[in-house]
Amino acid sequence: MQYQKILADIAAEIEPLRNVGRQADYIPALAQVDPDRFGICIATADGEFYGLGDIDECFSIQSVSKVFSLSMALSIMGENLWERVGKEPSGAAFNSLIQLELDHGIPRNPFINAGAIVVADILMSQLENPETDFLAFVRHIAGDSSIIYNRTVAASEREKGYINAAIANMLKYYGNLRNDIEDVLRFYFLQCSVEMSCRQLARAFLPFADRRSTFSFDGVNLTPSQVKRINAVMQTCGFYNDAGEYSYLVGLPGKSGVGGGIGAVYPGRYAVATWSPRLNEKGNSVMGMKALELLTTYTRESIF
Ligand code: GLN
Repeated sequence: MQYQKILADIAAEIEPLRNVGRQADYIPALAQVDPDRFGICIATADGEFYGLGDIDECFSIQSVSKVFSLSMALSIMGENLWERVGKEPSGAAFNSLIQLELDHGIPRNPFINAGAIVVADILMSQLENPETDFLAFVRHIAGDSSIIYNRTVAASEREKGYINAAIANMLKYYGNLRNDIEDVLRFYFLQCSVEMSCRQLARAFLPFADRRSTFSFDGVNLTPSQVKRINAVMQTCGFYNDAGEYSYLVGLPGKSGVGGGIGAVYPGRYAVATWSPRLNEKGNSVMGMKALELLTTYTRESIF
């Protein structure tokens, strides 16, 4: 497959979208980012690598981090995880409070904020040093020890994180948060603040494209069956109330974040990462989604 040529064709075709959409500014630190950026990287299971655009610039991975926290929690808790969080698409905004109330404090899935806050709470209860252990896991899965938290972004989000604080309070009310509310929020915002480049993100998603081997690191073991399930949750829940549209257009399990990043996999073959900060009204990268749609159209490689 001529991936590099296809990436060049895609970049040319999506150029008119460069100024479409708006970057997230409800986290003040994210409003500082130049919104007119675009990068795309493919890392294949055979060790090939293709990239184009702003692929080495680090961005805030935000909700893409929820794939890594779910991986750790599923490995540690096994199927018991699902007693505290569901695995159904939410069809609602990623920070919906009303849905959490209707569901009596059991979040629909681990990729909306409420679900990821419960997962953060579980990791805090299970890990010896949650902050260090989470970052170590991300560094290992990406094969890059230079990856860091951006504590300025985390603090900036905490300062204005009124809805997430409301979500955490509601979870506590319903008995689905074991640790101190403030401590869980701090850890959740820190996870979201991890910075990665497209190159690093594509590598970090490669284990999710692997159908055969168990991924192991320091007590976290992801079996092929668990990887399959994480992909299923990505497919159905990775883009919140845009998940149907994303499935329709792209057809690859993936996860977006409000920093404008997307990680996705073509199982058995490759992982792909895109970054472009301008978002649609559902909070997903405009150029990123279009690039992935064109990728599966031109390669004819998708899970459907
Ligand atoms: N940290 C962000 C928040 O909680 C993550 C949301 C996202 O990327 N969709 O609002």
